[in-house]
Amino acid sequence: MLVTIGYTGLRWGEAIGLELDYVRPGELHVEWQLREVGGRFHRLPPKDDSYRSPNWEPCLPVDLPRFLASLITGQVRAHAGRRCACAAQHGGTGRYVFLSPDGGHPRRSNYARRVFRPACDGRYEGSPGREGRLVIADATVWPGIPVAAWPAAQRGDGPGTGPGAQSGMSTDMGTGEGFTPPRGRGIPVIAEDVPLTCWLPVKPGLTPHGLRHSHKTWMAEDGIPEILAEQRLGHEVPGMRGLYAHASDRMRDDLKDALQARWEDSLRARAAIHPHAPMPLLDGLLAPYRRQQPGSSRPDDTTWDREGAAATRRRGEEPGEVDLPNSSQISPRPHPGTRMGSVRRASDLARCHDHLVGDTGIEPVTSSV
Ligand SMILES: [Zn+2]
Repeated sequence: MLVTIGYTGLRWGEAIGLELDYVRPGELHVEWQLREVGGRFHRLPPKDDSYRSPNWEPCLPVDLPRFLASLITGQVRAHAGRRCACAAQHGGTGRYVFLSPDGGHPRRSNYARRVFRPACDGRYEGSPGREGRLVIADATVWPGIPVAAWPAAQRGDGPGTGPGAQSGMSTDMGTGEGFTPPRGRGIPVIAEDVPLTCWLPVKPGLTPHGLRHSHKTWMAEDGIPEILAEQRLGHEVPGMRGLYAHASDRMRDDLKDALQARWEDSLRARAAIHPHAPMPLLDGLLAPYRRQQPGSSRPDDTTWDREGAAATRRRGEEPGEVDLPNSSQISPRPHPGTRMGSVRRASDLARCHDHLVGDTGIEPVTSSV
């Protein structure tokens, strides 16, 4: 869904409101949005009647670059039988391209709290006056499986009773700092020998709507004519400029080619971080770029692939889902020319929490990233 927003400039409500019937070969038709008001979803025309469809003026659908047409076709096929449970309330077929794993619509607040903020910021959302907790992951399997959020060390807490204490390690760094490991019902105890790491912030402060702005910037950088760029975003082009200009097939082809090239560049950059991904879909997308990567044929890659696939299954993820950017940030092994520091244990991480957090955000736990 996020890839779709980034590469089409759709609004959040238009993305979650995209119904299967409005996906056509190589294009999307924007005729509806789902708007969340007071916890309920309403099926409404797009904002300011900004239709992007051959059925409405200016009769311009949202063109899809080749890769995205293929990804969306796969998504539609994989979820063709699903319907949302609230279709009777808001009308329509209830057959949506992007539903959450439980069959509901992604909710803006939940999605931000659980997915988008941790991925972009490397932290969970904070509360007023309190910074959010770091996203800490069990690094046994790259790129790591998030574990319970870890409270920051408090000065003067005294010795802790967590894994560090059990192993005889001091929880005091000479400054009187201690830590309290996460406890409570449903929170698994983190064993001392579990290697832990932190998610790096991908793009602090980014929002789904920010991806729409990025899309506009991309079009400007790629020299896409204003008439096409504005109409693609559902903006009206004022005055004579809007009256006499129209988006030609050649302009539309150029835009699709430019977006395709950006996607291929990003896969190349991702493959340079690591030639594989635990999520089968992304792993397949990286295949053409793997051959160019030195070290991709190392024998332990196969073991890692199996572990990664097994972990994905354990988490109950569906292979059809698009990988999130945070999964691409932490490499399981050093790249040529970089040095991998020792992975820290649970107690180390808690004790060093304050030291990891500088004025500019978090630092990686390992030196490889
Ligand atoms: Zn619904």
